[in-house]
Amino acid sequence: MQQTILEIKNLSKNYGETVALAGFSLDLARGEVLGLLGPNGAGKTTLISILSGTLRGFTGSVRFLGQDLFADRRLKNRIGVVPQEMAFYEDLSAMENLMFWGGLYDIAGKERKRRAQELLERVELSARAREPVKKFSGGMKRRLNIAIGLIHRPELLLLDEPTVGIDVQAKVSILDIIRGVGGQGTSVVFTTHQLAEVEQTCSRIAIMDQGAVLAAGTLAELIRIVGEKEIVEVSGPFSADAFSEGIRRLNGDGMEILSVADGLAMLAFADSQRIPAMLQHLFQNRLAVADLKIKSPNLEAVFLKMTGRSLRD
Ligand code: ATP
Repeated sequence: MQQTILEIKNLSKNYGETVALAGFSLDLARGEVLGLLGPNGAGKTTLISILSGTLRGFTGSVRFLGQDLFADRRLKNRIGVVPQEMAFYEDLSAMENLMFWGGLYDIAGKERKRRAQELLERVELSARAREPVKKFSGGMKRRLNIAIGLIHRPELLLLDEPTVGIDVQAKVSILDIIRGVGGQGTSVVFTTHQLAEVEQTCSRIAIMDQGAVLAAGTLAELIRIVGEKEIVEVSGPFSADAFSEGIRRLNGDGMEILSVADGLAMLAFADSQRIPAMLQHLFQNRLAVADLKIKSPNLEAVFLKMTGRSLRD
């Protein structure tokens, strides 16, 4: 049985009238890489800010390594945080930044340098270690941001949307680094609204919306929520309202509407023989179909079922 290192219970946080977290609960085991998947405004940044100690005024409890995270300041030093915005000095080099941030944790000079070199290697920045960071690409800056979050060898690393705004190749490299961090026994929580990222990277996935976890488990466990169904993606020049109205009568009759947006609908069929009936209904209601894809149950279908909305909304 893996040791639970983080236990979040019933965390709630409001900004005035806005509810950001509403009874958020989650456990994390040592070495686990957990992807926290949620649409915009789900409360991901609020959660990371509370865990990293930069946001107060909430209710609920967080236990880390068996203790109240907020009772002992030293406990927070065992957590590494990679915020969305870059947390380094642009005029300093990558090496100088790591030495600076390592100094804040009182890591002795020689050891700090050793760790900085090791981390630069790990995030593939060794060759550019002495250049001012302002010359770095967006992906390189993000990799340095991760290295800084790891300089004090935390037992838990929190990353807030680490792949936003960078190209595909840079994303792949960051996801590799995240997997590697988990492989070395550090637990990781990273937030994203990219389904593919969590599918490829995480040992466990939590789907959140409106400030709470709706489902958590391995990819296989989550997919079981949809069950043995055929997922059908229909696209065409239709409005969401016209599509919903067009097939409303079929809903529940061997077919479940997972989500409908203008031009795109996702349906789940318990029996694929019902698919022609659905097409016939669309045809009768003068709804043109440009493309139809049949897929096995996947994380996107689970997400749509749980949240009722697409990540592309
Ligand atoms: P995104 O992916 O867009 O960053 P998120 O999942 O990180 O979203 P949060 O940033 O935590 O979500 O926001 C949760 C809710 O709280 C949203 O409705 C947001 O508008 C609101 N919110 C966040 N920060 C503040 C603030 N400082 N003042 C008022 N409302 C806020």
